[in-house]
Amino acid sequence: MKRVWSLTIVLVMALLNAVTAQNKTIPSKGFAVLAADGKFKPFEFNRHALGDNEILIETLYASICHSDIHHVHGDWGKEEFPMVPGHEIAGRVSKVGKNVTKFKVGDYAGVGCMVNSCGKCDFCKAGLEQYCKDVVLTYHDKDQFHDNEVTQGGYSNNIVLTENFAIKLPANTDMKKVAPLLCAGITTYSPIHYAQVKKGDKVGVAGFGGLGHMAVQYAVKIGAEVTVFDITEEKRADAKRLGAVKYVNVNNPEDLKGLDNSLNFIISTIPASYDPNIYLKMLKIDGQMAFVGLPPYAKMPIIPIDKLIWQGNRKVFGSQIGGIKETQEMLDYSIANNIYPEVEIIPATSKAIEVAYQNVLDGKVKFRYVIDMKTLK
Ligand SMILES: [Zn+2]
Ligand SMILES: [Zn+2]
Repeated sequence: MKRVWSLTIVLVMALLNAVTAQNKTIPSKGFAVLAADGKFKPFEFNRHALGDNEILIETLYASICHSDIHHVHGDWGKEEFPMVPGHEIAGRVSKVGKNVTKFKVGDYAGVGCMVNSCGKCDFCKAGLEQYCKDVVLTYHDKDQFHDNEVTQGGYSNNIVLTENFAIKLPANTDMKKVAPLLCAGITTYSPIHYAQVKKGDKVGVAGFGGLGHMAVQYAVKIGAEVTVFDITEEKRADAKRLGAVKYVNVNNPEDLKGLDNSLNFIISTIPASYDPNIYLKMLKIDGQMAFVGLPPYAKMPIIPIDKLIWQGNRKVFGSQIGGIKETQEMLDYSIANNIYPEVEIIPATSKAIEVAYQNVLDGKVKFRYVIDMKTLK
């Protein structure tokens, strides 16, 4: 009998604990798509309770990356809904767990594409958490460190995550311009430095959108001679303004003449279907090409092996964002060198987000839409 009683007490305690933990969950609201139809609706949900090593960030700005659009439309395979996108987040710390040392309440913090990883594997140890098999993405992912809770992103009024994956933002920074650095910035900064691009190098930037216009600025800052490739006449002046020496409209055969074997490094940020082989031919001997734009899986560009063999001694690699340490380095570098995205601020409404998505798809954005989450009603 005594044993039954003690078992009952243990069970009741466990239940009470579960209920208290439940009560500590953090209410959040923002915008979600409920199906792959691209329609945003106001959405309320709960985030897990603040852990001892975690911080709660009130979102100030969240920007719109083309990969949000791919996810919303299911371009990269089956997605889970409801989905709150957003992995370029700038905000203010409103609560800290008891073991947090990196942030205090009132500090500014940024969040990019990841909120956690295993911390033990070779990739994590090398500062390449983005390749960890247990990485937890900022949204549309299962968080195995929190009972497989489905993560939700930055188109919302707050986010909770381990301090290790939050990026420190200096208080005197223009916060609305910082958000896009957390993905567009690091995704281009990382391969440019991995390829050791140097002063005087001839660099090609294929795709001149949110990522491309950051790549141009990083390469120009190093002292490279930059050629921009896109499929419109409308961005010619912008490329020059950001320091490119040449602009190539790929749809104009005249523009493409004389470019073979001319570039040391090419970064492709193109998020749609295209022929990568025209760029491979432009690489000099020992030249390198980095792919960072990820087109829909159904229309994935292909490089046949024979092309690599006949145009040997060029290197091709892919790159995905960058690790947390490098993201902080990129952020500090960008601010020190006054390198920022060009942004257009939109209010936090479903309608404004949907219009922005369409404009990105139509190539009309210059260069990043940023949602002012402070206007959320
Ligand atoms: Zn992104
Ligand atoms: Zn790992």
